[in-house]
Amino acid sequence: MLPICREKQVQLSRQYQQNTLAHAIILQGIAGTGKDALAKWLIELLICQQPIATNDSVDEGSISQACGQCKACLLKNSGSHPDHLLLTSENKTLGVDDIRRGNAFLEKTAHLGLVKTILIPQGQLMTIAAANALLKTLEEPSANSYIVLITDDLECLLPTIVSRCAVYAIRPMVGAALLAQLKISSNNQLLLSNAENNVITVNSTAFINLSQLPELTDEVIFQEFQDFNEYFLDYLAYGQSESKVLSQLIDNKHALRWLEKIICNLVRQSYLTSDSNKAEAVAHQKIPVQLLNQVYQAIISSHKLIKSYTQTNRQFVGEQLLMTINDIVRPST
Ligand SMILES: [Zn+2]
Repeated sequence: MLPICREKQVQLSRQYQQNTLAHAIILQGIAGTGKDALAKWLIELLICQQPIATNDSVDEGSISQACGQCKACLLKNSGSHPDHLLLTSENKTLGVDDIRRGNAFLEKTAHLGLVKTILIPQGQLMTIAAANALLKTLEEPSANSYIVLITDDLECLLPTIVSRCAVYAIRPMVGAALLAQLKISSNNQLLLSNAENNVITVNSTAFINLSQLPELTDEVIFQEFQDFNEYFLDYLAYGQSESKVLSQLIDNKHALRWLEKIICNLVRQSYLTSDSNKAEAVAHQKIPVQLLNQVYQAIISSHKLIKSYTQTNRQFVGEQLLMTINDIVRPST
């Protein structure tokens, strides 16, 4: 379990132990927050006939776990538990028929005589009709049944659904909490531990200004960052979108830091074999690392200038910076 889910795990364990767990639960978090693993743990716990409590986190409270050995656990692990339903869809949306399948499942008596569980891994795919069908079930919950919905984005669910569920939002770590998860290794690279304690090595330049990353927690700012990233890669690779980049440099207080981050990502990708982002791969193919390093130095200089003089003309600094970057990546023009 990822450390950022630990708090929710303790909270859910406590509610489970006190028998106060809601019958409809939403686990919300952006990709990579570990919400799927949290849902898997919760479903297994609900199904288990002889759950155990581990006290390895004494400060926070104990965490309940499925035993992994009882009849219910064995059936669940083999994927054939009769009282658990995984509600997915092969289509792009989760339709009303899918939800009706869930409702019919809940109406039947439990085979093992205990609880019934439904997991909806992509709640945001529900159509309006499907959501309304689910709403009826949520309004009249059957005894000993649990519905666990997972979603990236709460705003993609009907407010009436959200209001009838207990919502557990998993937020990415920022600042000190994130730093605590990072260990500096002997060769001065940053190491990030993941769920299985495998250590992922990350180029240390990938993390800058860890204490202030609003784009990780605020979806609007995240989208602005994504847009800015596209524009700047356009500029870097093709000399396009200059006015869009400049207006962000003038008006957006995050823009210069984002420039640093984008260049760092480009440099980092040049050291890694797997290029996940096509746009960055395109930009990278055209621009060698030593030029990216020069661009980075220019950005740092501009950033220092902006930070050190309160009266700095952002427009002037932005224009100068883009000209400098242009001269570095396109010396002939
Ligand atoms: Zn068990």
